[in-house]
Amino acid sequence: MDIQAILEEIEKEVRPLLGEGKVADYIPALANVDPKQFGMAVTLLDGTQYGVGESGKRFSIQSISKVFTFTLALHAYGPELYKRVGREPSGSPFNSLVQLEYEHGIPRNPFINAGAIVVTDSLITHFGDDYTALETIMGFIRDISDEPSVTIDPEVARSEMEHGYRNLALAHLMKSFDNIDNEVRTVVQTYFKHCAVTMSASELSRAVLYLANGGTDPITQHTFITPQQSKRINAVMLTCGHYDASGDFAFHVGLPGKSGVGGGIVAVVPGKMGICVWSPALNEQGNSLAGTRALELFTTKTGFSIF
Ligand code: GLU
Repeated sequence: MDIQAILEEIEKEVRPLLGEGKVADYIPALANVDPKQFGMAVTLLDGTQYGVGESGKRFSIQSISKVFTFTLALHAYGPELYKRVGREPSGSPFNSLVQLEYEHGIPRNPFINAGAIVVTDSLITHFGDDYTALETIMGFIRDISDEPSVTIDPEVARSEMEHGYRNLALAHLMKSFDNIDNEVRTVVQTYFKHCAVTMSASELSRAVLYLANGGTDPITQHTFITPQQSKRINAVMLTCGHYDASGDFAFHVGLPGKSGVGGGIVAVVPGKMGICVWSPALNEQGNSLAGTRALELFTTKTGFSIF
């Protein structure tokens, strides 16, 4: 199968959609990104890469980082982690407070903001302090992408903290239910920092290969998690990776995936490849509009869905 030719076809087909939707403007540092950009990349288990458009341009990975922090927390705590964060779709927007109140401060899953904040808190506790937790997260991202130059955009992190009232509210509410161990500002600041990592579509498609290969990087042979944990993470990506549009993404695309408000989406084809698409303009649920369509076209044209 000529994957490069398929990506080129997809790029042509989604071009009319570019600019439809809206960039995330609640993070001022992201509001200025040109909405018409598009990049898509595929990395096979043997490291072969394909890419179109701006697949080499770094963007703000935002909630895609939640896959990496969930991986580290599951490795550190095992099933104990689920005492503090569930694994059910929320059916609510990514930053909703309502459900959290009536479910006593236990977030539905690690991919909504509240769940990811609990996961970050658990990593700070496990690694002893926020600095070591963040260094460990960055070290992990650099390992799985095999790219030592991956860093955080401090301007995006600062901009989020300045406007982070809702995420701070989520963290305070959970603290009132004893589900945050550390100081609220430290936890939320660390969460914003890992959301502010910048990576390209090609780097991210490489980074998720461990999830396409049962927890072991197929190129370096480094084992990060067990096959069972990898299966679980893929399952949570499938059911919860796109906020209140998770069912729709499973319906149209049929792959485990995770989106971020920077316009990136990663997807995993188990046993075959990692994929990442990036286009900053978002649909109403906060997922990349052209990116979602591109992934739907990819699974339709290749037949590579899990169903
Ligand atoms: N840092 C973003 C926030 O907490 C992440 C949201 C997202 O990518 O969906 O609002």
